[in-house]
Amino acid sequence: MTGELLIVPESEDVALLEEAHRLVEVLDDQVGDTPSVVAVAFDGVVQPAAVRAGSPDEVVHVVREEGTFTAGAAGVRPRSEALADLAADARAVLLPDTADGTDLAAATARRLRGGCVTDCLLRVREGELLAGRTAYGGRAYAEISFERGPPVVTLNTEALGTPSAPPTGAPAERTVEVDVETDERVRHVETFEVPESDLAKARRIVAGGFGLGTPDGFDLVTELADALGAAVGASRPPSDEGWVPYDRQIGVTGKEIDVELYVPVAISGDSYHMRSVNAEFLIPINTDPEARIFNFADVGIVGDVYEYGPALVEALREAAVGDDSGGEAAEEVAE
Ligand SMILES: Cc1cc2nc3c(=O)[nH]c(=O)nc-3n(C[C@H](O)[C@H](O)[C@H](O)COP(=O)(O)OP(=O)(O)OC[C@H]3O[C@@H](n4cnc5c(N)ncnc54)[C@H](O)[C@@H]3O)c2cc1C
Repeated sequence: MTGELLIVPESEDVALLEEAHRLVEVLDDQVGDTPSVVAVAFDGVVQPAAVRAGSPDEVVHVVREEGTFTAGAAGVRPRSEALADLAADARAVLLPDTADGTDLAAATARRLRGGCVTDCLLRVREGELLAGRTAYGGRAYAEISFERGPPVVTLNTEALGTPSAPPTGAPAERTVEVDVETDERVRHVETFEVPESDLAKARRIVAGGFGLGTPDGFDLVTELADALGAAVGASRPPSDEGWVPYDRQIGVTGKEIDVELYVPVAISGDSYHMRSVNAEFLIPINTDPEARIFNFADVGIVGDVYEYGPALVEALREAAVGDDSGGEAAEEVAE
């Protein structure tokens, strides 16, 4: 198989480009194949200087006949159309594993009628590119092959290595003008403020579930989290309902957590949620004594969170008055 490795960086983060160069080294070692590394810069979305930083062999500037491209959900359709045209003969298309990268990857793969794997690393076996990723909250590992179309993948850049000798020098540059669909099918775009603290790094988490009944229930969850020096998480239904941003979701389709303390509030403990929970100490609050979540509890509160929650917050705040460690815990979570 020939064709270039097409990279779609979102920022100056050069991890994607470095990974592409590493893949070229491995392909060269295994089958003597040296595909060129081509970085795509959508006009209006990424600065050309940012994509040059990783020394691709070529930079393709994609410009629209009218206007510029836009980042985010509103701009996925036109960008996927342009990217699918560019990628028709590519060896693979590599994007960052961000919300935008994942949306763009899925839309592009659909247009190419090929495969798409997100949050993975690319492996090379006898010259074939395979997507390696963990499943079931890290308990299994899968290597996925692609039957047709170039593999379109989003890469977990945090887990990437660096190439032994990244190329240097100015890349070749060309501009491609495209006449693509407009964004008019998107009628409403809302921007949410995403809290900075990353659930994957938090040591303590208080998470709210669908049993809260209303988005306002997360005010109480946040108060409880603050009192414990913890980050706020959620099960999937509150995230699906837009009560919290997606990056708060814990579970197989959200974040995996590894914490010293987990307080699931009004969460039933479904396996899709619990498979991604690793906690040294788990204290649920749930009205239903038969709820599955109590199977995982060290201790728990059987009761209404709206009754016990405020009392708990008050007690924790009082306890923290004479205890200096509360501040320390908060700093640990914010790191
Ligand atoms: C392919 C797939 C992927 C999925 N991925 C995920 C995922 O990543 N993460 C995830 O969480 N889910 C995921 N789900 C959904 C999952 O199956 C469950 O539906 C979900 O976890 C249930 O969320 P919940 O516990 O918040 O809500 P519910 O199941 O509705 O439970 C609410 C709980 O709140 C309790 N409660 C009600 N009122 C109160 C109150 N006032 N005080 C205290 N307790 C109260 C109830 O007793 C109940 O136990 C996935 C499902 C599928 C099919």
